[in-house]
Amino acid sequence: ERQKWLDKLKAGLGKTASSISGVFGGNVIDEALYEDLEGALLMSDAGVAATETVLAELRRKVAASGVTHPVALKNILIATLTDLLKPLEKPLVIGQHTPTVIMVAGVNGAGKTTSIGKLTKHLSDSGASVLLAAADTFRAAAREQLTVWADRNTVEIVSQEGGDPAAVSFDAVSAGRARGKDVVLIDTAGRLPTQLHLMEELKKIKRVIQKAEASAPHEVLLVIDGNTGQNAVAQVKAFDDALGLTGLIVTKLDGTAKGGVLAAIARERPIPVYFIGVGEQLDELETFNAREFAQALIT
Ligand code: GDP
Repeated sequence: ERQKWLDKLKAGLGKTASSISGVFGGNVIDEALYEDLEGALLMSDAGVAATETVLAELRRKVAASGVTHPVALKNILIATLTDLLKPLEKPLVIGQHTPTVIMVAGVNGAGKTTSIGKLTKHLSDSGASVLLAAADTFRAAAREQLTVWADRNTVEIVSQEGGDPAAVSFDAVSAGRARGKDVVLIDTAGRLPTQLHLMEELKKIKRVIQKAEASAPHEVLLVIDGNTGQNAVAQVKAFDDALGLTGLIVTKLDGTAKGGVLAAIARERPIPVYFIGVGEQLDELETFNAREFAQALIT
């Protein structure tokens, strides 16, 4: 199973991987190689800060170890990238609270609803009872889509046509407690009718969840599209500043994602990547492993 998704990840990152690998085709480690590598890392969406950090680390390790062959440098790069990504490797832990309340945010199109569907299956498979809450009350389609995922997973959903998102969230947390659910997963809006401010709305939802349950929300997740490069980093910063994120789900790493965005996140705002999305199907959600990812990105 693990191999299957690794293959999908490798296929998705293939273009980036071959452009990075291409850098190591010669016989010497020289300035031209470092320049090509800099270009390849920037092209992979790693961003300037992470690229500079990685290059400085490579130069230091090359000087310290005395290696002279590009193949050795490539292995050093994999190890360096693994170290950089390692802080992102952290599992989502539930069970410390009943219910564990998980608020999920993300801009429209990032893959939020799909990821909630996948996460519901993941949690259900591990034996947890899940209650979904449709707190994106602005878009009828969002509610309908979430209901489809609830049905597919045969879990209950709290939904209210045109209701107040914070009130729906409050009701869901109360219902989750009353019904003895292990997890309450709250889907929030990714965009609002123009005059309202998304971050203010999300902050209000968070405040009201706290009123329903003082220790909640226990997790605030952001879903980001792995194809949006530096924009994804900007989103992580903005949502973290407003809400205090506890974890990320990075989607669409199976397609034509460049993958380097995880290095940028690790360097600029290291919030744990609980899961990565590698397809549209219910079971195409995987835990993040720094070493496997670094290898998929470079080999
Ligand atoms: P939302 O607006 O953030 O709720 O986004 P959706 O969950 O509706 O997803 C938007 C599109 O991205 C849909 O076509 C999904 O099937 C697709 N999608 C979501 N996650 C993934 C993923 O990991 N891989 C691929 N290839 N597609 C995905």
